Amino acid sequence: MLSKNHHIAQAPEYVHQFKCIGSSCPDTCCNGWSVDIDKNTFKKMRDLKGTELASRVKKYFKINPEGSGNSYARVTMDSDLKCPMQNEEKLCSIQVEIGAEYLSHTCKTYPRKIVKNSFVKEMYTTLSCPEAARLCLLSEDGWSLKPLDLGVPIGKPLLVQGGYKEEAEGTISFNFEMIRAFVYELCRGRNMPSWKRMLLLGLTCQKIDAMVESKPENFDAYLEQCILESRLSSINGTFSEQVENILPIAKVKHLQASLIKLMTEERLRMTRADQRPFFNETFIRCIKQTVDGYNKSLEASNQIDELTRYSRFEQFDKSKPHILENYLINGFFSSLFPMGKKTSLVDQWSDQMIRYALIRFYLKGMSESLGSDFSEKDCVDLIYSFAKVIEHNSTFLPRIKEMLKGADMDGIATIAILIR
Ligand code: SF4
Repeated sequence: MLSKNHHIAQAPEYVHQFKCIGSSCPDTCCNGWSVDIDKNTFKKMRDLKGTELASRVKKYFKINPEGSGNSYARVTMDSDLKCPMQNEEKLCSIQVEIGAEYLSHTCKTYPRKIVKNSFVKEMYTTLSCPEAARLCLLSEDGWSLKPLDLGVPIGKPLLVQGGYKEEAEGTISFNFEMIRAFVYELCRGRNMPSWKRMLLLGLTCQKIDAMVESKPENFDAYLEQCILESRLSSINGTFSEQVENILPIAKVKHLQASLIKLMTEERLRMTRADQRPFFNETFIRCIKQTVDGYNKSLEASNQIDELTRYSRFEQFDKSKPHILENYLINGFFSSLFPMGKKTSLVDQWSDQMIRYALIRFYLKGMSESLGSDFSEKDCVDLIYSFAKVIEHNSTFLPRIKEMLKGADMDGIATIAILIR
């Protein structure tokens, strides 16, 4: 039931369905992370006196010297990198003992994320929560957004990420809906394998970036024409044929495997800000299965070209294409593509594609390792733990992009090899 007095956001069905599953959760939200505390909550918590909870707050809540606003303070994690506020049932003792009104903004809203699409608020979730990932990835419904009552009175401020102002004609923001519709179509359209659809998107982004640079007088008409041409080349099969010949599978797979191995090693070498390594257990299990899967294929075929087929995963993906499609759509929509943080569309696209390439690669290896036991649950496990370890790490992608740039491999061609 929508209230006129509350903030309302547009949200896909999985966000409407989401509910934290608490102690039944296979992971916990805060494990391995730094939990930010906003100033108001910090003050309220520091005023608590005389209880065991109050002394834990005193010990573990510390002012963040570089923080402000919602990151005014932080909870120091215990020696296992777990939140010291968690009780034995893996529930938050603040919520259990004194109520949700004492939770910091971060803890209250996680895993939800509100973004502003011009004047409209939209809500998605990060996929680092296993329950949110399960609902999002396994849904076969479409992505039509429906209004959701956020239960927050209109006078109260909401933490909204991103946001942009729709500018006049001749800008990307003015054409936001048209570009978003094209992105959705490519993510969902099944007339070509997903790597070809994503490559077509990258090449279209490149053309749009060039248009933004050259500022033609009738920008909006050119943009529409450019999208129409891409659409046609997808429908009539010309694009599919061209790239099949340019990127033959046997040639690119070896390079793809080497690049992804380098990226994975780079992440495994990284530590937290406090120099402690953090590896989510589920992610480590998935990486071990990936390595095992590739070794198995290599032993069985003894030929690198054979290794490149990964037919098991291709078949799985064909029978459940919505899983990776939902991953892509959630990534594009929740980052407000094409109005994401970066101005170039190709840059925004590359970020999504590097993550997508890593996920596909790991899933292929895992499916070889697990054989007929490989299931939707393995996809959810890999994607939620990947989001935790890689997507929530703000330094990983810039480092990878620097690494590719240093090797002169930062163009669309390299991304095409990665997603092939
Ligand atoms: S990760 Fe998600 S389901 Fe698990 S405890 Fe946190 S919010 Fe709840």
